[in-house]
Amino acid sequence: MSNSPHIARKRFGQNFLHERGIIERILRAVDPQPGERIIEIGPGQGALTWPLLDRIKSLTAIEIDRDLIPRLLAEAPKHGELRIVEADVLTVDFTALAAGETIRLVGNLPYNISSPILFHALDHAAVVRDMHFMLQKEVVDRMAAAHGNKVYGRLSVMLQAYCRVDPLFTVPPGAFTPAPKVDSAIVRLTPKTATEIPPHDRGRLERLVRHGFSQRRKTLRNALDEVATVAQMEAVGIDPGARAEAIAVADWMRLAAT
Ligand code: SAM
Repeated sequence: MSNSPHIARKRFGQNFLHERGIIERILRAVDPQPGERIIEIGPGQGALTWPLLDRIKSLTAIEIDRDLIPRLLAEAPKHGELRIVEADVLTVDFTALAAGETIRLVGNLPYNISSPILFHALDHAAVVRDMHFMLQKEVVDRMAAAHGNKVYGRLSVMLQAYCRVDPLFTVPPGAFTPAPKVDSAIVRLTPKTATEIPPHDRGRLERLVRHGFSQRRKTLRNALDEVATVAQMEAVGIDPGARAEAIAVADWMRLAAT
C-alpha cells in the first residue's frame, strides 16, 4: 500500500467530505443504531465510514476504486468490522446483500452516476428501509419537485411514486476536497410499503413518464400518442391538452393502471 496521499479521481466522482460539522449533521440524520444493516456506497477515504462504524461496529461498503481499499482496510480495525465489496455499485444486488433483512443505504454519491444509482436502488426498494444520500442540490430539487414546478420531471415522478422524498439540508462546495463546482444537498428517501403504492404497471409508468417528459412542451395528446389513448387519459381525469409537468404523481400512476 502506498503511503502517498490519494489523488482524487474525477472519473469516479471523487469529492471527499472533510467538514466535521456536516459529517455530524449527516450522522444525526441517519441516526444509526447497533444491529442495523447499513450499506455505504462509495466510502472513499472513510469520512462517513469511520463515524458510522464507531457507532454500529459493523458495516458493508461498496467501493469501485481499488486503490482506496487497502487504505480503508488498514484503518478499519480501529473502528469496527468493515466488509468491503469491491464493485461498481450498479452491479450490486442489494436484495442479496440484505439476506432476508432490511438494509439502510448511505452515501456521498459520485455525482456523475447519481441518477442510475437512484434507479438501481429503486429496483431493490422492497428491502430498503431508507436511504440518505448526498447529491447535487439541483438533483435533489428535481427529486422533490411537485407538479407544476419547472424542474418536475421523470426523476420526480419515478422517485415519488415509490418513496417519500425529504430534502434535509444544503452543503456548500467548501465542505469537500476537491470542491465541486455546485452546491450539494442531503436527501432522505423512504420507500413506501406495498400497501401505500396504488396498483399500477411499473413498466407502463416508466414508458408514460419517459414519453411525456422527453417532449415537455408538447401536449400529452401528442407526447403520449404511442403509449396512451385520449380515452385512457380522460378516463382517469387527465386533460389531454395539458403538458406532462402539470400531471401529479398520483395521476401518472392512475394512467399506468389503464
Ligand atoms: N464517502 C466519501 C466522502 O464522503 O468523502 C467519498 C465520496 S465521493 C463523492 C464518491 C465515492 O464513490 C468515491 O469513493 C468513489 O471512488 C466511489 N465510486 C464512484 N463510482 C462508483 C461506483 N460505480 N461504484 C461504487 N463506488 C463508486
